[in-house]
Amino acid sequence: MRTYDEREVLFSRVALEKGTKEYDAFYKKHPHLRTVDDELRGKNFRDALKGSSYYKRVYLPLLKENKEYIKRVFFAGYDQKVSEDRVDLDPSFKEQLKEITRYFGATDVGFAKLTDYEYYSHLGGLSEELGFDTYGEKVVPRYKMAIVYTVEMDKEMINRAPHIEELLETERAYVKVAEIASKLTMYLKSLGYKAFGNNSEYYLGPMVPIAYDAGLGEIGMGNHLVTKEYGDRVRIGAVFTSLELPVDEPVDFGLQEFCKICALCMINCPSHSITHKTREVNGRTFYKFDDQTCYGMWLKGGTDCGTCMQSCPFSQGMDLEKVDQMKGNPVLMQELFDEHMDKYGRRNYLKGKLPIVDLKEGKNGRN
Ligand code: SF4
Ligand code: SF4
Repeated sequence: MRTYDEREVLFSRVALEKGTKEYDAFYKKHPHLRTVDDELRGKNFRDALKGSSYYKRVYLPLLKENKEYIKRVFFAGYDQKVSEDRVDLDPSFKEQLKEITRYFGATDVGFAKLTDYEYYSHLGGLSEELGFDTYGEKVVPRYKMAIVYTVEMDKEMINRAPHIEELLETERAYVKVAEIASKLTMYLKSLGYKAFGNNSEYYLGPMVPIAYDAGLGEIGMGNHLVTKEYGDRVRIGAVFTSLELPVDEPVDFGLQEFCKICALCMINCPSHSITHKTREVNGRTFYKFDDQTCYGMWLKGGTDCGTCMQSCPFSQGMDLEKVDQMKGNPVLMQELFDEHMDKYGRRNYLKGKLPIVDLKEGKNGRN
């Protein structure tokens, strides 16, 4: 079994400062990553957003304020004390926790058991914005269960990828994920159970494999969680807790086979970061992915691109009755894929041209 290490995540790597002992230690161990990481280091992709100074002045704070808001929301849950008056919850109520998580704003919910391998072995310092100095800190697995949830992102906004609407919608979903995490954390603590709400500023473990374990979807060629209903047009959140819960099983609706027919995310990726080659990590299939070229694309475009998300047929909506029957049925899979292509085509807005967000001075931002 292999643990995930947040120090290996690209955002942790490119935040390292040259000449520090953390930088030297990391690249001594991973010398093949140094050259390209150095090119990507110290840059904020949002700085590359194309547009008039007025446009940037008005829209960029909208995104920046999200971080500040998530910070405040996070500490509301984090700082709350666990009630000493613990309520013993009966099994039927535990199932209701899914409804309560939906009530807080989640789209879908599942429960997963956490082993030590679902936690990061070490933190990569990404919670610095919250005031934590965590780089290199060993993660102690304190919780055995995770309440895992998705937040759907608006289709029309995501279909504007790689333009700024996709970034706005992704960030809106991260905010929603943080709000749900905090509400749920506070609720569980008030019932007498320990809880930690993961959010985009502070993760104790990687969300995709945990969401897979909780039965929320499968892992597609783009390395995202793909759900039957919304494709990878979702953000994932998880609250880790000491409350024992019934565990959900991973689902297999045939996505692995469908991806081999489809490959639209791979074909449409402007930086050729997605591959069809797979690798197994802890019994889960991931596709080999080039995080450096992907982030390089963000730095060129000024958004987090998202073309892979809007390319996925499941993100556009599929005939769910057929999806439920497609596993082991390549003819039906081809039919579903053909139906998608007839309706939507390849959905590639890029056609290899840069800059991808081409706003003219004085225009309102839409092109
Ligand atoms: S975000 Fe864009 S560049 Fe990155 S993998 Fe997806 S399509 Fe490719
Ligand atoms: S776009 Fe196609 S290949 Fe990529 S994850 Fe979705 S179904 Fe799989």
